[in-house]
Amino acid sequence: MTEDAVPTTLQNHADAAALRPRTQLFIDGGFRDAVSGRRFVTENPATGQPIAEIAEGGPEDIDVAVAVARKAADDGRWSRMSPADRKAILVRWASLIEENGREISLLETIDSGKPIGDTIGIDVPETGNCIRWHAEAIDKLYGQVAPSPEGTVAMVTKEPLGVVGLVIPWNYPIMMAAWKLGPSLATGNTVVIKPASATALSLLRAAELASEAGLPDGVLNVVTGPGSRVGEAIGRHMDIDGVGFTGSTEVGRRFLTYAGESNLKRVALELGGKSPQVVFGDYTDLEGLAANMAFAIFWNMGENCSAGSRLIVHRSAKDRVLEALRAELANWPVGDPLDPATKIGALISKTHLEQVLGYIDIGESEGARVVAGGNRILQETGGYFVPPTVFDNVRPDMRIYREEIFGPVLTVLEFDTEAEAVALANDTEYGLASSVYTNDLNIAHRVAREIKAGTVSVNCYSEGDMTVPFGGYKMSGFSGHDKSAHAHDQYTETKTTWIQVAPRP
Ligand code: NAD
Repeated sequence: MTEDAVPTTLQNHADAAALRPRTQLFIDGGFRDAVSGRRFVTENPATGQPIAEIAEGGPEDIDVAVAVARKAADDGRWSRMSPADRKAILVRWASLIEENGREISLLETIDSGKPIGDTIGIDVPETGNCIRWHAEAIDKLYGQVAPSPEGTVAMVTKEPLGVVGLVIPWNYPIMMAAWKLGPSLATGNTVVIKPASATALSLLRAAELASEAGLPDGVLNVVTGPGSRVGEAIGRHMDIDGVGFTGSTEVGRRFLTYAGESNLKRVALELGGKSPQVVFGDYTDLEGLAANMAFAIFWNMGENCSAGSRLIVHRSAKDRVLEALRAELANWPVGDPLDPATKIGALISKTHLEQVLGYIDIGESEGARVVAGGNRILQETGGYFVPPTVFDNVRPDMRIYREEIFGPVLTVLEFDTEAEAVALANDTEYGLASSVYTNDLNIAHRVAREIKAGTVSVNCYSEGDMTVPFGGYKMSGFSGHDKSAHAHDQYTETKTTWIQVAPRP
């Protein structure tokens, strides 16, 4: 094998079998069992087989982790370290994640069902890139001096919140952790983070690497366990100053209740979506369009908050767009996530598989027509596989068009006028992402302005890179953004220091 050769499926299986996942809570710079001693099983969604038993934390473990994080916040071992030193540690951490990228991507793939091509090609590099980006900002962000009257000096500065609680989902486990850890650590906070129960392995390994990079003990603590106990304990904790949450809208809104019923901690939420892809009749690059559309809805098995799950296409273009999409499906093989050729791996769990199949049944019973996919496949593997599924004859009142399915299911609707396209795009309680395809610059600008979504991409499907904020309008988010320097706001307080300068005697 040459140095750059992509490891074969066989090699990936052999290396995955040799992994030794970390399975305990990571608190105060070391691994330990849950106070209760309880453990739960994490399984491989591509086989239905167990991978490991993980410590099942509870509220008592959150108490321990928060006490450790509070001590680290109060004694300033991180927040008062020089910005250049903090930067160096986080940059080193990013490099260690990249150097151990093969191990982390294998852990991520067996734990989540994501294709190895994605975990090694997207998730791990994006994780390193995100942490490095925020690290490098540490000694480049300045406070402000206000234009105050003669005889006064007024400074507006940002300070860390203190102890931050982070709760993250299973769809991009290590990347979503990085989107929150990068800015929260860069702004000087200490952290208690809870990964989703199904996908804790990559974060536990990354936390160990943070210590190796020189992050002081107690600054980053990972508590695994069920959302209903560990997540709620974070949300309600009186000594956590702020929460960053990514997950469903349903659970996200609970964090507002938790904060309201506890200490009014700051809450920033990144939630679900039902994002439109609006295609105008003048758009000519059908091949490019089909590739973007497929990526928008089938990437990560459709388990993507910003999945472009509603195709809103001009009536005159629908047939040729669907034909191009059908041809593109040949480029989206479904199967073993450890096969480097696989583009669509397994859904996260049996429960989620049943939910996605349930939505497909609902769509058919509501009168929509399956024109691709639509059934479980590869059942003999024990894994949870659904091929790219496309529904035609969809109406805006159908549940498959309104509700987040979080699977590889595209719904297709036609429009006649630009106004109708905008109305359809905005006819949703969500507002996370959107795409507009047109060759007409005027249409592009008009529609991009009118769509109520945190991200509008034109003639592509993209969330942009690390330099731009990512967040949702309406019920897709609350009070915060991931990525870019905007992500720092939710982890900082704004302080005014007003100084009276005595006149010269
Ligand atoms: P989820 O809301 O079920 O779980 C998210 C996290 O919350 C998990 O760690 C879970 O254990 C925890 N949790 C569950 N119940 C809880 C409770 N009662 N109290 C406190 N915490 C609790 O979401 P999921 O199924 O893991 O992820 C899928 C959802 O995440 C989708 O809706 C998707 O759109 C959304 N998501 C949004 C973004 C974004 O940036 N906007 C990114 C990725 C995923």
